[in-house]
Amino acid sequence: MFETSPPRTPQQTAPAPRLEIRDLTRVFSGREVVSGVSLKVMPGQVTCLLGPSGCGKSTTLRIIAGVDRQDAGGVYVDGRPISEGALHMPPEARGIGLMFQDFALFPHLDVARNVGFGLKGPKAEIRARVETLLDKVGMRRHIDRYPHELSGGEQQRVALARALAPSPRILLMDEPFSGLDDRLRDDIRDETLGVLKAEGTAVLLVTHEPAEAMRMADEIALMRDGHVVQYGAPYNIYNAPKDREAAAFFSDIN
Ligand code: ADP
Ligand code: MG
Repeated sequence: MFETSPPRTPQQTAPAPRLEIRDLTRVFSGREVVSGVSLKVMPGQVTCLLGPSGCGKSTTLRIIAGVDRQDAGGVYVDGRPISEGALHMPPEARGIGLMFQDFALFPHLDVARNVGFGLKGPKAEIRARVETLLDKVGMRRHIDRYPHELSGGEQQRVALARALAPSPRILLMDEPFSGLDDRLRDDIRDETLGVLKAEGTAVLLVTHEPAEAMRMADEIALMRDGHVVQYGAPYNIYNAPKDREAAAFFSDIN
């Protein structure tokens, strides 16, 4: 008898990132404000684009959302281009949700209608979806309230429910917690992370706060002057910052 060779481990093909940008570049008035930026977001993961004010974070997000166009490079969802060269998928066709700090709730609509805004389908189904989401963010009991009757943290929870209502496969968050006071912020970050993980959403979170990136990110892209200067797991970047400036940036984490 010949000995049979041990069964081969099947070649695992790495899953395509849900969102990927490659060599993204944007020029304003002859200056590259985004310069060859590449990063990935896997399903159910949070990638943080972290860097000081003015380094090009929001510009990068706007290009991914499709409300601005790159001058070079591309944006890919599940391995397929949505923005590359002459190809430019319109924002509403991208399946990408947005949550910005100043993305205020509609003041004249109650919580239920804020969250259900823009959803299509039978009323009862929309109501059920809204109730499910409000349960997830712990706001169901406030379903009939108006934004001005809610605290900042409560409004933020409703805004999260609204961002998730159309079940986006990708969520872009631009400094979503910066309007909240310090005492609340850690709790809201943790709750938000729990909801996003449960939904399996791929999240690209923009922040200028290292502590926020350390708390929320699976991967961090550290950005400076339009460039990603370091990219990797939070632990690795924190423990082995690439240069003095990166070290200094992380040093005020308390
Ligand atoms: P961040 O979000 O990291 O604070 P931004 O992406 O908003 O940075 O801005 C990056 C740089 O690009 C800044 O210097 C900003 O002034 C500039 N900028 C952003 N948008 C425009 C625009 N539409 N026209 C010209 N300059 C812009
Ligand atoms: Mg910004």
